[in-house]
Amino acid sequence: MCTTHQTPANEAVAAADPQLMFRRKFLKYAGVAGAATAAGGLASCTTNPVTGRSQLLAFAPSEADLARAAQQSWNEVRRQTPTTNDPRYAGRLRNIGSRVSRGAGQANRNWDYAVFDQNTKNAFVLPGNRVGFFKGMMDFTDNDDQIAAIMGHEVGHVTGAHARERYSQMMLGQLAIAGGTMLAGSQLQRRCRQARSQRERNDCMRSAGRNTQYLQAALGMGFQLGVVLPYGRRQELESDQLGARYMARAGYDPYQAVRLWEKMGAESGGSRGPEFLATHPTPERRARELSDYITAQQKLGSRGFQQLDIPADA
Ligand SMILES: [Zn+2]
Repeated sequence: MCTTHQTPANEAVAAADPQLMFRRKFLKYAGVAGAATAAGGLASCTTNPVTGRSQLLAFAPSEADLARAAQQSWNEVRRQTPTTNDPRYAGRLRNIGSRVSRGAGQANRNWDYAVFDQNTKNAFVLPGNRVGFFKGMMDFTDNDDQIAAIMGHEVGHVTGAHARERYSQMMLGQLAIAGGTMLAGSQLQRRCRQARSQRERNDCMRSAGRNTQYLQAALGMGFQLGVVLPYGRRQELESDQLGARYMARAGYDPYQAVRLWEKMGAESGGSRGPEFLATHPTPERRARELSDYITAQQKLGSRGFQQLDIPADA
């Protein structure tokens, strides 16, 4: 079954104006509309050939359209942040990237790599196969295998279709809001007609106006967020395991991913770090989960790393 999640966009919009007169009703209707839309979405689930998981992609633009939209963000970040052409960084990352993408069976895609000349410990991937590393991230690693671990993780977000999935989840949330607004609006109008005084009618119409603003704000933030939306826990776990698979297939030591997480855990002291770390489980827990996964897969010999093993509660 294709599961859907409450989107952060939905929560953010709902929290934007706690004074809204019909907030409770509004949310109730939004819930009803959301359930209806989700039911519609169930018919449109897609099975990802890499993860074997059923995903809701129906509300996202095509991969090509999302890649075109991300081009702008990519250009912007490259304009704002200096990149380095130093072969110890840029050349090294390109080599590791091409080896990992071959390991992932994704060498036929056009990959774009950039190393940003900043001391940040972070890396990211944008739709259109654009992988960004900060110099600080590369400096933090002990060896190529650990860089390959991060690269594999980012490639996992691509093959897992995670950006389109997040986008689709967010759009579903917005459709629920739109549906909720229309339903609440019709209730509101009925109520406005029953107003006993002009003042009551005015108050009533003001609320209706706020509802409309809500809707516009919700729909307006759509595209921009779709490109840089944070990934969910399940997606992070998937990317960790896919990363280990790609490392193994590219001839890197997947246990170096575990070492990297342990090192990050020691560094961050269990607190939330940058995007690459910004997930609910602590780095220590991710290291443990990844270690268990790699050990189990390596026991399978040549049949290893063919399946993911994501806990049901993720
Ligand atoms: Zn990630």
